[in-house]
Amino acid sequence: MVKQTIQIFARVKPPVRKHQQGIYSIDEDEKLIPSLEIILPRDLADGFVNNKRESYKFKFQRIFDQDAKQETIFENIAKPVAGSVLEGYNGTIFAYGQTGSGKTFTITGGAERYSDRGIIPRTLSYIFEQLQKDSSKMYTTHISYLEIYNECGYDLLDPRHEASSLEDLPKVTVLEDPDQNIHLKNLTLHQATTEEEALNLLFLGDTNRMIAETPMNQASTRSHCIFTIHLSSKEPGSATVRHAKLHLVDLAGSERVAKTGVGGHLLTEAKYINLSLHYLEQVIIALSEKHRSHIPYRNSMMTSVLRDSLGGNCMTTMIATLSLEKRNLDESISTCRFAQRVALIKNEAVLNEEIDPRLMIKRLQKEIQELKDELAMVTGEQRTEALTEAELLQLEKLITSFLEDQDPESRLEVGADMRKVHHCFHHLKKLLNDKKIFGNNTVSNTVSSESKDQDCQEPLKEEEYRKLRDILKQRDNEINILVNMLKKEKKKAQEALHLAGMDRREFRHSQSPPFPPGNPEEGQRMRLSSAPSQAQDFSILGNRSSLLHKKTGMREEMSLGRQEAFEIFKRDHADSVTIDDNKQILKQRFSEAKALGESINEARSKIGHLKEEITQRHIQQVALGISENMAVPLMPDQQEEKLRSQLEEEKRRYKTMFTRLKALKVEIEHLQLLMDKAKVKLQKEFEVWWADEATNLQVNSPAVNSLDHTKPFLQTSDSLHEQSQLFSNKSSGGWEVQGQGTGRFDVCDVNARKILPSPCPSPHSQKQSSTSTPLEDSIPKRPMSSIPLTGDSQTDSDILAFIKARQSILQKQCLGSN
Ligand code: ADP
Ligand code: MG
Repeated sequence: MVKQTIQIFARVKPPVRKHQQGIYSIDEDEKLIPSLEIILPRDLADGFVNNKRESYKFKFQRIFDQDAKQETIFENIAKPVAGSVLEGYNGTIFAYGQTGSGKTFTITGGAERYSDRGIIPRTLSYIFEQLQKDSSKMYTTHISYLEIYNECGYDLLDPRHEASSLEDLPKVTVLEDPDQNIHLKNLTLHQATTEEEALNLLFLGDTNRMIAETPMNQASTRSHCIFTIHLSSKEPGSATVRHAKLHLVDLAGSERVAKTGVGGHLLTEAKYINLSLHYLEQVIIALSEKHRSHIPYRNSMMTSVLRDSLGGNCMTTMIATLSLEKRNLDESISTCRFAQRVALIKNEAVLNEEIDPRLMIKRLQKEIQELKDELAMVTGEQRTEALTEAELLQLEKLITSFLEDQDPESRLEVGADMRKVHHCFHHLKKLLNDKKIFGNNTVSNTVSSESKDQDCQEPLKEEEYRKLRDILKQRDNEINILVNMLKKEKKKAQEALHLAGMDRREFRHSQSPPFPPGNPEEGQRMRLSSAPSQAQDFSILGNRSSLLHKKTGMREEMSLGRQEAFEIFKRDHADSVTIDDNKQILKQRFSEAKALGESINEARSKIGHLKEEITQRHIQQVALGISENMAVPLMPDQQEEKLRSQLEEEKRRYKTMFTRLKALKVEIEHLQLLMDKAKVKLQKEFEVWWADEATNLQVNSPAVNSLDHTKPFLQTSDSLHEQSQLFSNKSSGGWEVQGQGTGRFDVCDVNARKILPSPCPSPHSQKQSSTSTPLEDSIPKRPMSSIPLTGDSQTDSDILAFIKARQSILQKQCLGSN
């Protein structure tokens, strides 16, 4: 058992704006516990309350400042936890902090660079690497990914890809068994045998999470996500299985309701989220107080799920993510305060071992069979389950003659067969019961007369007892002898089995030698054989039919007009730079991998040739020795020495290249998944933007319709150009729409779309969201299902024409204003 308090770490996010000096300081003296001091600027400290403090100091296990790399975070925070999970202990790492403070960045990672990958992908990489190294145990890994939103659980690893809202995902519920163990009904566990499979699951979950998010639910800031790695290990032949779970938790934003300033439906949600974090706080307060018997775990789904991680059988670590800017100081202080309370909680982690019942049954069955075989060997007879008719008849005869025999020394000899012994007892019991029911007459005369005799010959009783006791003793002895015999036989059989096993193992050793690092010769052989499969993996990577790819397949269903609009949208989208960059990197990595693959193949054949040459040389030397009648060549063969050193060199080169290729493979996989995800995001944002444009078109439709009278819309670019001309002619800084007021397009920055996917806000959408933040303005305020597009190419090309016309007006206006 390992007793330890929850470890707390702090991570400060780089500021969005220029660094604001003097807001915090980190004191990290080697000898002291590191502390973070948050200094309130004068204007905040001198508020209404006179005695407001000017600075707050918080202690942490370690504090990671803005420049801390993802690698450092993994090495210092996640690696030790992953290590104990590999040993069989439960582990949890959770990130807590306000929205935008870097929880997702820390737990999952950034979407742009490979080096930005967070704790989850790095931990997966580390765990699979360790599993590969350890051949003493058999491991199984499963992954689950749960999202909790508004007190409901959703399974993010739903492979159906139909979720356009959270409600489409399978609902997960919490069940508690009589032993108060928590079970999650409907949460699927997916087996992952390789790092790639596990990564695919992570990205599948993240993509489902992104797709299911709507402007209404903003799930990423208001939900909790729990990515769990379930690890089971077993030594070969053993029936004991160890289970360990590692929860990697991205909590909802910890900001308070009062600050969010939202009303209506959103407020209900905000309250919910805070309610769930509020219950987490309640649990933590209860745990940090001594002598509290009741811990309110059951109050929320999240605390129920993380029950073991908080004050239970788990090694838990918290990362307080901080965005230390002036406007966030109060939230940062409350995050640190929360961490200080968490640090008081003591957990007791134990190894989770259990006997695998299936294995136990198998072992017992085997043992029974072995014992039966031994018995057959000792007794010389083969036994079946039940006694035969003839045997039963024989036994009953024996019992009758035993009962009738007047000699007190007489014995009922049935042999060392428990089936027969049991049958005798049953038969005697039956006789006794019959006697009770029908009186002494119905049973054997001997028995009745004997008992009668005993009744009248009281003094005999004592002697009878003594004799019976003696007989019993004798029987005991016989049984003991038999048991000892059996034991000896069993031991012999086991020794024989053991010897046979050793022989087999030795045989296996000589067949396929292990791969110790100090034995390059053997190691090389294995590596060589796995190289083609590595190369094959690359080809698979190239045309991987990943589940994620299905999501990007949406474009095939688009009409031509929409496709064209999508291309424009994509070109202007901020993420396209990242996608292009990643595409470039991916290309480079691919060609590097290809070149490496070729070099590896070259090195392989070179190694083969060198070996062949050495063998030839050897044969020649021996032949020379024989022809010259010399048993051993006098001088060491220099040519052979040279060949050998060349071989060693080639092997070293091969090994270096192989390691690099392996790392490249992981990087390529990760980059591809990042790109897939970015594409899905782009697609989703396009749909939202498209729907917005469609609504605008509908609002302004009289104008479009009036144009329709004069010239029908065509899909050619010429006609589009004409269209835009028409629009621009009508407008001089704005254009009139009959009966609709002024449909004026503001001269706003065309480049706005470089940052936000929505072009200039229309008067319509402005009115709708006058109280919202600018970011919310860019997002349509309705669910995706109400998008009035049917994929009808005529309608879609109308929209496209409209958008293009608008774009052209904007450009003209921008040019005009310059
Ligand atoms: P949260 O999940 O807490 O709401 P995110 O992880 O989404 O916050 O972070 C918000 C933004 O800040 C993201 O764009 C993210 O890439 C960036 N970010 C967060 N932490 C860091 C960091 N340590 N270094 C660089 N960028 C970061
Ligand atoms: Mg987040």
